[in-house]
Amino acid sequence: MRPTLTPDQRHLLAFVGRSSGSALLDAFLEERALRSLLARAGGASGPTAPHGAPDWMTSYWTVGSKFISPRPGSGPPRATVTATQIQRLGQALPTALRSQIADLLTATRAEQHRTWQWCRCPHARTPPNAHSRPCSRYHPTDEEDREHYRRTTEMHEQADALLRRVLDLGADAQLDLFDQLT
Ligand SMILES: [Zn+2]
Repeated sequence: MRPTLTPDQRHLLAFVGRSSGSALLDAFLEERALRSLLARAGGASGPTAPHGAPDWMTSYWTVGSKFISPRPGSGPPRATVTATQIQRLGQALPTALRSQIADLLTATRAEQHRTWQWCRCPHARTPPNAHSRPCSRYHPTDEEDREHYRRTTEMHEQADALLRRVLDLGADAQLDLFDQLT
């Protein structure tokens, strides 16, 4: 049976997902990822609630093994999602959806691995001073940079679409990123 979360809980998880990149998707598949997401112990806030979420949901915070909204100091918690609920939701996902998530996570990691050492300093050919050499790191061309941006944007959109499917949220949920609080 599919675990049931209230609409508020689903909006809270969408909020967590949008402010944590693909980390929440990973957490639905793997306990290790869930633990590291909780270990960040942070939260996020925005000037208004995410589109479709209740007006009071302008922030969330990680408290132990739970996510709560609004964050402490902004009034009593009105929605809570526990680590156990996230795990159960993940375990109950259809196999096809789980493998789509796994494929996206693999592609995201591959792109990060491919580009994490790229350097954008101005010393690719000319050294910063007479006593040093040009920077030896890899400097992407504008073309490569654009391609990286295109891939990253596409994967971000795919992650958002998968998260909406996991949470049964409509396609109108917004893509805005929120200020992260850590
Ligand atoms: Zn450089």
